[in-house]
Amino acid sequence: MKKVAFIGLGRMGHGMAGRYLDGGFAVAVWNRSKAKAEDLIARGAQWATSPEDAAIDADAVVTMVADDEASRAVWLTKDGAAATMKAGTIAIECSTVSYTHALEMARTLRERGLIYIDSPVTGLPDAAAAGKLTLLVGAEPADLELARPYLAPLSNTIRHFGAVGTGTVYKLINNLMGAIQIAGIAEGLAIAERAGLDMKLVLEAVETGVAASPQVVRHSRRMVARDFAGASFTSALRHKDASYAVALAERLLSEAPLMGRAAVEAYARAKAVAPDDDEGKMIEIASRPK
Ligand code: NAP
Repeated sequence: MKKVAFIGLGRMGHGMAGRYLDGGFAVAVWNRSKAKAEDLIARGAQWATSPEDAAIDADAVVTMVADDEASRAVWLTKDGAAATMKAGTIAIECSTVSYTHALEMARTLRERGLIYIDSPVTGLPDAAAAGKLTLLVGAEPADLELARPYLAPLSNTIRHFGAVGTGTVYKLINNLMGAIQIAGIAEGLAIAERAGLDMKLVLEAVETGVAASPQVVRHSRRMVARDFAGASFTSALRHKDASYAVALAERLLSEAPLMGRAAVEAYARAKAVAPDDDEGKMIEIASRPK
C-alpha cells in the first residue's frame, strides 16, 4: 500500500486528505492544530506528531498550508517533512505560495535529493473534498509522471504549465485577476446601491450582461444580500495571493502593476477589518459612506 503524508488540514486540505483515504492509500496526517484531524483519524488516518514524523516512509508528501511562511515551516524547519523524506520522494506543494518561494523550495529540496513540484489548485473546499479541483502544475515532465498517482485522487484535471514554478505563476495571475474583479464588483454594486437603484433589477442585469463572469455570478447576489455564510476563501488569503502576484508583476513588467496594487490595497483594508471572513465582504468596505 502506498503511503501519503498529508500536511495542512484547513478548509481545503481536510477534504483533500480524505480523498487519499477514499483512494486506498495509507495516510499520515499532521496539522498545526490537531482538532481538525479527529474525523480523519476516525476514518483511518494515522496522526503524526510533526511533519517530520508524517514523512517517515512516505512515498509522497503533500502540503496544503496558508502561505510561504507556513510552507517553509512544514517542509524545512527542524521537524519539517524534508528531514525524514527518503531520497527520490516526491514533494507536492498544493498551497498557493509566491513564485520565488516555489523556486527556492525546488532548489533546496533538490539539494537534499528530493523532487519538489508546485501544484496549486483552483476550486473551492467542496471541490477539494469531491476530487474535482483543477491542478495547476509546474514540473519537469518526468517528475509529473512520478507524481501522477498522487495527484489522481485530487482531480483528473491537470494543467501542466511547464517547469517548477509555472503552476504557481498561473495560480497567481488567476487570483490577481479574481482580486481585481471582486473588488470591482463590490465597487460597482456599492455605487448602484448608493444611487438608489432597484438592486433586484441590477442583479438581473449584471448576471445576464457582458460582465457576468463566474466570479461575478458567484459574488454579486451574496454581496447584495450581505450573505457571507460558509466562508470558503478569506480576505486574508485573497490579499496574500494578490500581494504575491504583484511581487511577480514587479519582477516581470516594466510598467507598475496599477490594477494589481489597487486590488492589494482594497484587500489590505478587508483583511484589516475581517481577515477570516469571506472575501465577498469587500462590499462592506466599498459601500462605506463618505
Ligand atoms: P485555511 O483553512 O486557513 O487553512 C490554512 C492551513 O495552513 C491550516 O491547516 C493551518 O493550520 C495551516 N497553517 C497556517 N499557518 C501555519 C504555520 N505557520 N505553520 C503550519 N501550518 C500553518 O486555508 P485554506 O482555505 O484551506 O487554504 C489553504 C491553501 O489553499 C492556501 O494557500 C490558499 O491560498 C489555497 N487555496 C484556497 C482555496 C479556498 O477556496 N479556500 C482555493 C484554492 C486554493 P491550523 O489549522 O492549525 O490553523
